Amino acid sequence: MKVLVINAGSSSIKYQLLDMTSGDDLASGIVERIGEEMGKLTYKTDTKEVIEQPFPTHREGMVEIINLLTDDAKGVVKDKSEIAAIGHRVVHGGELFFEPVEINEKVLKGIKDCIPLAPLHNPGHVTGIETAMELFPGVRQVAVFDTSFHQTMEPKAYMYGIPYEYYEEYGIRKYGMHGTSHKYVARETAKLMGKPLEECNIITVHLGNGASISAVKNGKCYDTSMGLTPLGGIIMGTRCGDIDPAIVGFIAERKDQSAAEVVSTLTHESGLKGICGSNDLRDIHARIEKGDKRAELALDMACHRVRQFIGSYAFELGRVDAIVFTAGIGENDPEYRARSLSGLENFGITINQEKNLNWDRTPSYISDDDADVKVAIIATNEELEIANDTVAVLGLK
Ligand code: AMP
Repeated sequence: MKVLVINAGSSSIKYQLLDMTSGDDLASGIVERIGEEMGKLTYKTDTKEVIEQPFPTHREGMVEIINLLTDDAKGVVKDKSEIAAIGHRVVHGGELFFEPVEINEKVLKGIKDCIPLAPLHNPGHVTGIETAMELFPGVRQVAVFDTSFHQTMEPKAYMYGIPYEYYEEYGIRKYGMHGTSHKYVARETAKLMGKPLEECNIITVHLGNGASISAVKNGKCYDTSMGLTPLGGIIMGTRCGDIDPAIVGFIAERKDQSAAEVVSTLTHESGLKGICGSNDLRDIHARIEKGDKRAELALDMACHRVRQFIGSYAFELGRVDAIVFTAGIGENDPEYRARSLSGLENFGITINQEKNLNWDRTPSYISDDDADVKVAIIATNEELEIANDTVAVLGLK
């Protein structure tokens, strides 16, 4: 059985076709620059192909994806009817969606109702869903939300200390993001530990260009670092993470900018990039080697913040069975991992440097064998998680 996973943005469509029997990735890629003069489509199977042509709307992009997937020479299926179901990544499900759901008119309306909470993401998802429904008539489609894993947080964790009416009127609260990844790596960590997920307390550390940390208590999300939007929490590639909220007004006044302009700077020009000019850890390490003090400061600040969150979540959980690293930085940067967890021997956290440096990409521990708290690395696979959720929601075998 084959499931197509779609992650549609405002001007892009990421896609992956998975064989659910083997778990294999049959084909994947992205259509970019939809609506621009010249668009770009990447199509990866055993080989990689790049096509440059205009894609005026999502529809043309999706049609081209279908053409490639079913092409006599390059395709991986004979006909699109081989695709049993489609799973869509949706960033924001607000308080409406606790679980992945099959898409119908009511669900689509709910996703639209959440647009004010994710104005950069949900409109693209809606377009992607509507296009897929048109081009795959009769194929059942499922929405998998980045926020739903975090819906188990209690009000004490998700409410902000601001007037309660803001929550009632505008839905202002912490929602959290990257839920599909946190859920996936938490479950894989439980498997690694040989324990039911419901019995595990895990701190999941998703460190990509966007980054967040979650406290998972007895298998459920108890707290998470991102907030109403993906701007909150730890220091990210270009996003500031948590800052004193008064800074927004302070900058707006001095630079004569609107709040939206300041937030744009905090989103695109801040974080590691704001401190040292780069948001790529490979580049930052190279600069540190050459003695760049700003690069050193940026890395130090980012790891410091990760430690703070891990520390506070350890207290919230009361007992930590495992800490798991994932995503671009979490999977590839031993120095970042080691710095974030250095000097914590008294708390039962010790990294084995040899394992840390030589991780072989399989789910495994990098902590010392006798450490009280297991430290693991698990490569995240959000597409597989979305495909699995799709199959489960639809009751397909
Ligand atoms: P993601 O958003 O999960 O794709 O992560 C992207 C980020 O991972 C990049 O911006 C880099 O900072 C980081 N990254 C990717 N590869 C490496 C690597 N080999 N070493 C260190 N950091 C890496």
